[in-house]
Amino acid sequence: MKPDAYYKDIYEIDYKELKDLGIKNIFFDVDNTIIPYTEDKVTEDNIKLFNELKKDFNLVIVSNSNSHRINSIIEDLGITGYTSSMKPLNRTYKKIKKVYKTEESIFIGDQFMTDVWGAHKNDFKVILVDRIGNKEPLTTKFWRLLESFVRRKLTKNGFQNGNYYKLKK
Ligand SMILES: [Mg+2]
Repeated sequence: MKPDAYYKDIYEIDYKELKDLGIKNIFFDVDNTIIPYTEDKVTEDNIKLFNELKKDFNLVIVSNSNSHRINSIIEDLGITGYTSSMKPLNRTYKKIKKVYKTEESIFIGDQFMTDVWGAHKNDFKVILVDRIGNKEPLTTKFWRLLESFVRRKLTKNGFQNGNYYKLKK
């Protein structure tokens, strides 16, 4: 369950390293990863980053939020995506696997249970980022409760909040 890499936020990630390791597809969580759960618009910084990344990667949104909330975000970023994806259930990952190779793909998200566990049990690598907002829906609060146990267990494997690390080559 330990994330393959851990960064403060999506701007700190060493994307060149990802490219060098053969990653071609990046799958982004939205809520508290790209924008706070309480916002519904992307920022100038978001757009700048995504425009830069588009040169090297296929960028795909994978959000558990519904299309009503996420479609305009996908549109503003000028990429593609999956909404109501029900992470950590396997359904959407299975769809993704039909289009993208797992070894050329990586997920990015802020939650252990939905983002890290979901990706790992479907053979995808995953980067954990710190959440950017404090507000979360009830379902996320439930996942966070489980996450707190996982985080505690992972401290034995050297995982610590704020101790960021890159992918292992
Ligand atoms: Mg999230």
